[in-house]
Amino acid sequence: MTDHEQPEEHGYSPDLVEAKWQARWRERHTNEPDLDRAERPFYNLMMFPYPSAEGLHVGNFFAFTGADVYGRFKRLQGFDVFEPIGFDAFGIHSENFAIKVGIHPAELIPRNIANFRRQLEQLGGMFDWRHELSTTDPNYYKWTQWLFLQLFKAGKAYKKQAAVNWCPNCRTVLANEQVVAGECERCGTVVEQRRLDQWFFRITDYADRLLANLDDNTRMDWSDSTTAAQRNWLGRSEGAELDFAVEGAGPIRVFTTRPDTIFGATFMVLAPEHPLVDALATAAQRGAVEAYRQAVAARDLVSRKVGDKEKTGVFTGGHAINPATGQPVPVWIADYVLMEYGTGAIMAVPGHDERDFAFATQYQLPIVRVVALDGEDADTPLEAAVEDNLAGRMVHSGRFDGLPVPEAKRAITDWLAEGGHGTRTIRYRLYDWCISRQRYWGPPIPIIYCDACGAVPVPEHDLPVILPELEDFRPDDSGISPLARNAEWYHVPCPTCGGPGRRETDVSDTFLDSAWYYLRYTSTEFHDRPFDTSRVARWCPVTTYIGGNEHAVLHLLYSRFIAMVLHDAGMLHFEEPFARFRAHGLIVKDGAKMSKSKGNVVIPDEYIARWGADTFRMYLMFLGPFQEGGDFRDSGISGPRRFLNKVWDLVDQSQAVTLAGNEIHHTVLIKWHQTKKKVTEAIDGLSYNTAIAALMEFLNALRDVNCSERQVVKDLVVMVAPFAPHFAEECWERLGYHTSVFDASWPSWDDALTVDRRVEIAVQVNGKTRGKITVPRDAVEDAVIAAALADPAVARFTDGKAILKRIVVANRLVNLVVGEG
Ligand SMILES: [Zn+2]
Ligand SMILES: [Zn+2]
Repeated sequence: MTDHEQPEEHGYSPDLVEAKWQARWRERHTNEPDLDRAERPFYNLMMFPYPSAEGLHVGNFFAFTGADVYGRFKRLQGFDVFEPIGFDAFGIHSENFAIKVGIHPAELIPRNIANFRRQLEQLGGMFDWRHELSTTDPNYYKWTQWLFLQLFKAGKAYKKQAAVNWCPNCRTVLANEQVVAGECERCGTVVEQRRLDQWFFRITDYADRLLANLDDNTRMDWSDSTTAAQRNWLGRSEGAELDFAVEGAGPIRVFTTRPDTIFGATFMVLAPEHPLVDALATAAQRGAVEAYRQAVAARDLVSRKVGDKEKTGVFTGGHAINPATGQPVPVWIADYVLMEYGTGAIMAVPGHDERDFAFATQYQLPIVRVVALDGEDADTPLEAAVEDNLAGRMVHSGRFDGLPVPEAKRAITDWLAEGGHGTRTIRYRLYDWCISRQRYWGPPIPIIYCDACGAVPVPEHDLPVILPELEDFRPDDSGISPLARNAEWYHVPCPTCGGPGRRETDVSDTFLDSAWYYLRYTSTEFHDRPFDTSRVARWCPVTTYIGGNEHAVLHLLYSRFIAMVLHDAGMLHFEEPFARFRAHGLIVKDGAKMSKSKGNVVIPDEYIARWGADTFRMYLMFLGPFQEGGDFRDSGISGPRRFLNKVWDLVDQSQAVTLAGNEIHHTVLIKWHQTKKKVTEAIDGLSYNTAIAALMEFLNALRDVNCSERQVVKDLVVMVAPFAPHFAEECWERLGYHTSVFDASWPSWDDALTVDRRVEIAVQVNGKTRGKITVPRDAVEDAVIAAALADPAVARFTDGKAILKRIVVANRLVNLVVGEG
């Protein structure tokens, strides 16, 4: 932090005020709504933090303050606001950090949480600490395990072998999102591919509902950027599944969104792992096929998905029959086709697909055009794939020649279906959710394996399966979770037959912990149920959820999926958990992203120590539009502090002025109503910077005319309260109130008074300005002249004289031409 800015000396001392009110809120239970009887429940949720050793950073402060401002505003509007907070403390971040510093996570996490709690209290959030939770608490993860069992019972959890990204350094499976340019997001090691037995959730069964609800504004009023990201992630496409016959083996099934181009399918490409590759590979090609497969196995999934410029592949030697032409087409393998996506095979149409065109060109495979635009010569040799061809007509496609593309799509699909070669179908890009982690720091998946009974769920009354203490919790190269090393924990009797059983040693993904925490918040005191149905009925779905757009897909999608599963099991009355979601922006420092290596990380504690939490909150909210973020500069923080000092002084003056009971100045009256309207609308739209600017402008207007009328100052204090809660409480008390300012009501305004209906008009006598009058806008001429003549400054020049001419320029000017009487 630079030292060029220091708060001015002033009677307002944030240290004293903030400590005082934080203690008061605790003593008076100010932030604890009655969860069983609240009449206007408003669930104000913010994304719970992962308690890192560094403490809350300024980005967290920005997000939490913005969400807290909203909650406090709603409280002032008369809602019973529930604003809980907790800690997302399981997971690989905590575990890797624990390994790095050589302290056990079970020791480290409570320490970090204590520090976070201290910071959050300092921030002055309206948190209901009675309902604090941590995902690492057995009272919490007991129910995370219970949740797994509900999915298992509903047939939505299954185990399969799957290729996964493997970081040889972290010794764990990585999600695709954790792989950046082929390297581990955390440690930078080149990621490999492994095949492991893993637990999956069938989120793909819900793809159509997850997509359809995004269009339902009555269920989900969400930021557009977030719904767009989810739509893209779900990746719905319409097309057909087609079979290409193979001699002596099952057909090769492909999915295509362009069945109309089948006459141009001149070769096929399979994923190297495709089960038919062995049957297709000829003796001559077998060696090349094997070598290629091994090379691919060493590469990670992400770079395969992104794709290299250079296409590589190997001919299997085998052929399949194109069902439209009846002709054999060569079958290749290439790493750009993934087993995990679709059927693991594609029909290649190099005449109309960029990637297939590049591949065909490289390996000299035939290219046939099957769509041509009107007037185009269908036999011109192709130089590049014709992508933009949906407006064309079919060529080289037998009896379908001449049909426009959309018609051909229908006709060719029907024709292939009749011939038993395919079916019309819809596909999603979404994958099932892999929840297995071969790590230590997570909730053990509650399954016991028995040679006689198979995978047996742990009975619910035996939950939680406690995460055992392990001195050495580091993962090793085996791909087996460290939990297997604790023999006493690992070997248990089978719950079904009593024979020897072995516990599942994988722990679950942290995204499962966070997929239901909003339910648990409402019910933390119940130990016999994951959530209380009547509490959830009162408070859920969550009224407003504010969080980062980096969670636009995984966390929010998984939470929606889990809610749907519980809804279908009759346990929730809703299937969309978050009625309103708003993504906040990000804070940068002097134009650059904050990072430790750049040394530009802002430590909030230092700023709070110097300026106070209220000033810091106001400063953060003033940086830019909340949903866009802003640039943190050391030079701006004294502005909000001066503003608070001036409001403090105004409150002082107001105590004296009330007794005088002076009339409200007209311009103040208008400004007052305008400000109330503007601030209300701005906060409601999360445009906090606009609201603060309006408050500052209002303060200046009051100072200009030396107005400290009590009613006006009182409203100003209430409007400042969401941003500077401790400060506002203190001012409220100094105004003589004995209740919390948050029990006051939000100021209302009179729309008629938000528009200044009066205008100031210059009055000239014989062309010289002699005075100014204030009249209603668009007043009739006679009234304007009467007012002009009544003005003492004007009267001095008109009294006793004859008015020869009266000129009125509406709302601007009066000119009186007078002569000697
Ligand atoms: Zn790594
Ligand atoms: Zn058994």
